[in-house]
Amino acid sequence: MENEKSLSPRKTDVFYCPVGNEIEVFETCRKLSLPMLLKGPTGCGKTRFVEAVAASHEQELIKVSCNEDTSVSDLLGRYLLKGGDTVWMDGPVTQAVRKGCMLYLDEVAEAREDVLVVLHALTDHRREIYLDRTGEVLRAPPSFMLIASYNPQYQSKFREMKPSTRQRFVTVSFSYPDFEKEVAIVAKESGLSAKAAEPWVKLAGNIRNLKDLCLQETVSTRLLIYCAKLVRNGLPERLAGEVALVQPLSDDPVVVTALKELIYLKF
Ligand code: ADP
Repeated sequence: MENEKSLSPRKTDVFYCPVGNEIEVFETCRKLSLPMLLKGPTGCGKTRFVEAVAASHEQELIKVSCNEDTSVSDLLGRYLLKGGDTVWMDGPVTQAVRKGCMLYLDEVAEAREDVLVVLHALTDHRREIYLDRTGEVLRAPPSFMLIASYNPQYQSKFREMKPSTRQRFVTVSFSYPDFEKEVAIVAKESGLSAKAAEPWVKLAGNIRNLKDLCLQETVSTRLLIYCAKLVRNGLPERLAGEVALVQPLSDDPVVVTALKELIYLKF
């Protein structure tokens, strides 16, 4: 499990371009203390959205990336040996509840069901966690908010979020921004002009529509930004496209050739 450092909040710090009604839903959920689930493909802006809303409320954000090895102790805490003593160390979920932070559990569907079950009492009217190792019950203060995310494309028969967990969240579906917005985002994040970003965003749209290539994941806004940054910093366009848009998507030589040809048609 990766527990990133909490981000110190400052208003205006984080650029986020709304793509639908997610801000309105968030503000209402925050007022009502309801947990949110963001679903959508990788690199489409879910994390940036959470960073932006936390910053807009000047609220500390604790982010946790979940995976199949994430354990209950990773989230809630554990006893550690320090000198000759054992001392209790809060995990990120416990820290967020104690401090009344915003908690972002990224890729929550990757966590095992027994781990998710521990969070159930946090997602309903109880808004509490039970630390069985210390015997504490912690109730979340009003400022605490839980936001989780998952990528439906990663789900398999073996790792599907159970309805009993899904039904605990208000859920917003994210996808890649529409053309104008994505051009604005890529330009802002890369420093490339909107005019120069446009053909890349068009190309991404074409690749996203190519269902025949059976790509497991398609071009994300994140990859587009990488590509635009490379071009902005002097890498030839064809090379930037290959290393930022083609190679990350596939190892299949036929698919790689097809994608490269698409780039060569434009650049
Ligand atoms: P996810 O969490 O969905 O995997 P991220 O939030 O990390 O994706 O998005 C990847 C990058 O794309 C961000 O770092 C940001 O530069 C950019 N991005 C995507 N969507 C937006 C948006 N709506 N507004 C601003 N930046 C965005």
